[in-house]
Amino acid sequence: MRFSFFKSFFDAASVLADLVFPVSCAACDKIISRKCFQVCDKCLESIFYINGSAAFDDIVCPEICGFYSLGFYEGTLKKLIAAFKYNKKKKLAAFFVNEAVRRSGGNFLPGPVSGFDVLIPVPIHESKLKERGFNQSELLACEISKVCGIEVCHDAVFRKKETLEQNKLNYDERFNNLLGAFEINYKKVYQIKRKNVIIVDDIITTGATVKSLAALLKAHGAANIFVISVARTK
Ligand SMILES: [Zn+2]
Repeated sequence: MRFSFFKSFFDAASVLADLVFPVSCAACDKIISRKCFQVCDKCLESIFYINGSAAFDDIVCPEICGFYSLGFYEGTLKKLIAAFKYNKKKKLAAFFVNEAVRRSGGNFLPGPVSGFDVLIPVPIHESKLKERGFNQSELLACEISKVCGIEVCHDAVFRKKETLEQNKLNYDERFNNLLGAFEINYKKVYQIKRKNVIIVDDIITTGATVKSLAALLKAHGAANIFVISVARTK
């Protein structure tokens, strides 16, 4: 009786909040109920998810044992990542991770990454951090940590070179762009040495960024490296 009273109260409060402070879908801007959690049903249905074992396809790289992506970088997911990074819709980090959990039957990070020790978000350069105000990969890593309990290491590596946006370059330019981009924080090497590391990134295109970071981590003693991203290009 008491439970149903509180439920009715919160439902009514939610309806009222929707009227006073309307929430819009992060992908299409349509006004939605806050129960939809950021994205309207129509946009949610249009996300091009990567299904089953294809989501865990191996990347061709000796430093990386595998990677997981929620979906392909196109359509709705592309719009959502843009809203997340450039329109500061930071709550989408939780949305992406919750979608990964939902799609894996509530058991995020099954098989391939059991026994991993630490999450390392791909670092962004200090100037970009000032401009954007946050590192999108760090927000994702923190949300992943909440669901799987693996700790996030925020400062084992940093970006010493201000690189150009990878998606604006051709294949060769991407690799040259990243040469010497990352540097290890020697004070924190103990957090990666002999540890199984999960690198977290928002988008994988050629994989040049994560390959470059993985090579650096391996050179400083990391054991196995797995990569998790929200999206990857086909
Ligand atoms: Zn929508």
